[in-house]
Amino acid sequence: MPELPEVEVTRLSFADRIAGAKVLAMRMGKPLRWPLGVEPVALVGRLITGVRRRGKYLLIDLDTGLLLVHLGMSGSLNFALTQDLPGPHDHMDLETTQGLLRLHDPRRFGAVVWARSEQSPQAQKLLGHLGVEPLGDDFEVQAFRAALKGKQAAIKQVLLAGQVVVGVGNIYASEALFLSGIRPTVKAAKLSAPRVAKLHAAIRDVLARAVAKGGSSLRDFVSAEGKNGYFQLEAAVYGRTGQPCRTCATPIKHFMQGQRSTFFCPVCQKY
Ligand SMILES: [Zn+2]
Repeated sequence: MPELPEVEVTRLSFADRIAGAKVLAMRMGKPLRWPLGVEPVALVGRLITGVRRRGKYLLIDLDTGLLLVHLGMSGSLNFALTQDLPGPHDHMDLETTQGLLRLHDPRRFGAVVWARSEQSPQAQKLLGHLGVEPLGDDFEVQAFRAALKGKQAAIKQVLLAGQVVVGVGNIYASEALFLSGIRPTVKAAKLSAPRVAKLHAAIRDVLARAVAKGGSSLRDFVSAEGKNGYFQLEAAVYGRTGQPCRTCATPIKHFMQGQRSTFFCPVCQKY
């Protein structure tokens, strides 16, 4: 599943090249998770002013309105001057004066949704509940601590829920908790101020490193430039059940937490 770093890598790979382009045509394939919400022909002639990211949504800004794109479980975007005819799993072609943006999504959990503005109900339905951006300036350690103080659930569950901070998926939550020495099952509200500061730094560090390395989670992840970006992040705990901890050599433990795999070192993660 593409996680925040893959989505950011995708954004970086085509945002500059598509900015300033005009929409020449739009073709939608089979139904995706949600309908587009407008006739594709209505977008012809629109100017693409930029591409932003909010959580795992890409926001393609138009001179009127915007497109929200989600990659779902298996989606990838490819932007190129010329493309082959669309295949059975290509469900959006946005033809512009600067190239063709194509969504390839075999499992069709992805979505392309048009909204009048970011504040409109169509957009807020998807974006309204999202927590702060972990790589943005709003992710601030005092506010993070205050938000965790109100949460009685296990810290890993709170991170995955995305309401405090958005886009910290299973791999990155597991790795950040290892880096900050925190047991995944500890109540979020119980973490000390220094421990929260360590976790805050670890979340930023693990996500920034993944973006720098081109994303890490989807085995067949391909950025919109066509570069492979899979599993380049050397995991400390994720997927390493029974293997020695890279710090203390204790075998890494695994258990199911809220139907998700959790990996941790019982010695290094005591808090
Ligand atoms: Zn260890």
